[in-house]
Amino acid sequence: MLATEALVVGAGLAGATAARALADAGLRARVLDKGRGPGGRLSTRHVASGGFDHGAAVLQAFGAEFGGWLDAEAAAGRAARWGDGWVGVPGMNALVAGLLDGLDARWSVPVAALAWRGHHWAALDGEGRVLAEAPRLVLAIPAPQAAALLRAGCTRMAEGDPPPPALAGLLDGLAGVRYLPCWAGLATVEVGAGPLPSTGVDAEGVLQGLFREAAKPGRTDAGHWVVHAGTAWSEAHLELEAGAAAERLRAAFLRATGLDAAALRGFDAHRWRYARPAHGLDAALALAVDGLALAGDAVGWRTADGLPPAERAWGSGREAAAHLLVALPPQPKS
Ligand SMILES: Cc1cc2nc3c(=O)[nH]c(=O)nc-3n(C[C@H](O)[C@H](O)[C@H](O)COP(=O)(O)OP(=O)(O)OC[C@H]3O[C@@H](n4cnc5c(N)ncnc54)[C@H](O)[C@@H]3O)c2cc1C
Repeated sequence: MLATEALVVGAGLAGATAARALADAGLRARVLDKGRGPGGRLSTRHVASGGFDHGAAVLQAFGAEFGGWLDAEAAAGRAARWGDGWVGVPGMNALVAGLLDGLDARWSVPVAALAWRGHHWAALDGEGRVLAEAPRLVLAIPAPQAAALLRAGCTRMAEGDPPPPALAGLLDGLAGVRYLPCWAGLATVEVGAGPLPSTGVDAEGVLQGLFREAAKPGRTDAGHWVVHAGTAWSEAHLELEAGAAAERLRAAFLRATGLDAAALRGFDAHRWRYARPAHGLDAALALAVDGLALAGDAVGWRTADGLPPAERAWGSGREAAAHLLVALPPQPKS
């Protein structure tokens, strides 16, 4: 079997962008993700009646490069303009799925540790079994989770393999990264029920966003709505059970829309513990460890640019791949 030349842990926008760039440069790349499919925080939950974009509802493009990529995705039928932003078509996760098209991506594979084995990185499961190994690793998951995998890997390094230089500094940097949470609510209402506003907030300040899926291009009207709770409410209620959060968000949704409760067919809640970065990781630290490049929306956040998180995730995926391709150039294939 041919050896994996680059390993990517995390198949959100950052990891998928990195994997695509590494594969386009000729490397055999393997992607591992604990989720059931591509997307990460650009997820689309599919149910019989249609989809819910329950992570980011719409993306903004500030820079020409990200805008150019979204233009190309639109030409390929995977993106469309919506208001002054962009959405994936038919769901947000189409953007990530498109990047991974044809690549070796494995789903429902939770990585429990990342251990340095002298000249390569090994991804281990909870029992310490090797899931995959490669000389180049892109770690594209939220910083607290990345730190946990690297720490767990330190305790699993083979005897005689010292931790790679600069790992301690990276772990210190990761400890300073902070995210803001967001509770999302997924409402199914009777099709045609209304009138409902297309976006809005409730007077009591629970909700900060209200999105009707059918208002986005490329969706049919399944009566699907997504609500995002505000940061303060999400922080105060972060540890609620999903059912209890759903009850409260459901009440806020009914208040905000004036909808008759009898027209509500279902309501679920999803907790995003790490929705958006509030304090990021220095970009140089993300590339400081041998064979490893961190990617994600928190990388470079302090130094760069005021970019929206998704654009930063996309850019960091490209930067991670470019760094590894220079540090460990692909070998000519015979
Ligand atoms: C509710 C909400 C609203 C948002 N609104 C906006 C917005 O308006 N504009 C904007 O720019 N951004 C927005 N964002 C942020 C945007 O979605 C993120 O910045 C972007 O999607 C992050 O991509 P990523 O690849 O860095 O991380 P993620 O998308 O989080 O990807 C990480 C992946 O790693 C996987 N993973 C984690 N741990 C493991 C493990 N141990 N083993 C294997 N796999 C693992 C996860 O399953 C996931 O697929 C929003 C986010 C949320 C949640």
